[in-house]
Amino acid sequence: MIEIQPLPFAVTEHFASLAGPEKDDPIRRQFFPDPRESLHDPFALDDPLGEYLYRAAPRLVHQYKDRALLLAANTCAGYCRYCFRRVWLSAQPPVEDIQPALAYLAAHTEIREILVSGGDPLTLDNAALGDLFTGLRGARPGILLRVCTRVPITEPSRMDGETITLLANNRPLRVVVQINHPRELSVQSRVVLTACVDAGIPVHVQTVLLLGINDDPDLLAKLFSGCLDLGLSPYYLFQLDLAHGTAHFRVPLKRGLAIYRELGGLISGLGLPVYAVDLPGGGGKIRLHENVIVGEKETANGIAHIIKDDSGKEWYYPAG
Ligand code: SF4
Repeated sequence: MIEIQPLPFAVTEHFASLAGPEKDDPIRRQFFPDPRESLHDPFALDDPLGEYLYRAAPRLVHQYKDRALLLAANTCAGYCRYCFRRVWLSAQPPVEDIQPALAYLAAHTEIREILVSGGDPLTLDNAALGDLFTGLRGARPGILLRVCTRVPITEPSRMDGETITLLANNRPLRVVVQINHPRELSVQSRVVLTACVDAGIPVHVQTVLLLGINDDPDLLAKLFSGCLDLGLSPYYLFQLDLAHGTAHFRVPLKRGLAIYRELGGLISGLGLPVYAVDLPGGGGKIRLHENVIVGEKETANGIAHIIKDDSGKEWYYPAG
């Protein structure tokens, strides 16, 4: 049983400076607590992605054969109100010893890529980040590191020359940065993201589709073409995960599909991310298109879309 605590409130000065004063400002809503977070959502799960289910060692999740996830940090520079690791971050978990995770990686050579996530790994200082990379490289010298972060957007000053050199020196390494709105591409963020690209670090972009924030094909086209102009690769557009307290951010799935269809006509294939969802409770990632939704069902939690995965197994995602 996981105890559910409210997600902490924290925002960086930089990210707050991008927000307008209105309550429904698309930047403000991403970090400012909303009373709707306490509403009960019958579809919400304690562990929306099944990360506890696939925990292979402390801080290490091994769900897909060739890649694993390391929860490298327990904190973020600011807390996104729609975060799918809400329960984990809210519990403010203790920092666990990384050695068993490194031993697991050394023994499992089928793992070719490690997602370094958290929390946000760039909340670690450079000494700790360097030690982490050294440990990972010691366990598996050639493993691809995928550093998942929001820091280049929320706190670009953290991405100084020393940090970028540290990342570049640990290639093969890719940065995956979460960007949800064109206004997040501030001058400062543009500078550090361009510096990463110039240092030879491939940078990919993940975006969460959020109701009232970016559920608009023109706005998304603007975001992704802005990313392309900076040399960043739009990678995933995520349908919201079923975390507690986040239902007010959920774009109905059918509407998400319509937005994505229209988006495809607005930008080149280079700028079009994959629209995907993590099947609730640990079913893994699946690309979303009309054909994966095979019907609707009245479940104990309410009406749900039936999504069929590649193996033919059915999963439920709320229809509203
Ligand atoms: S930065 Fe990532 S892990 Fe941290 S609160 Fe935002 S979505 Fe969650």
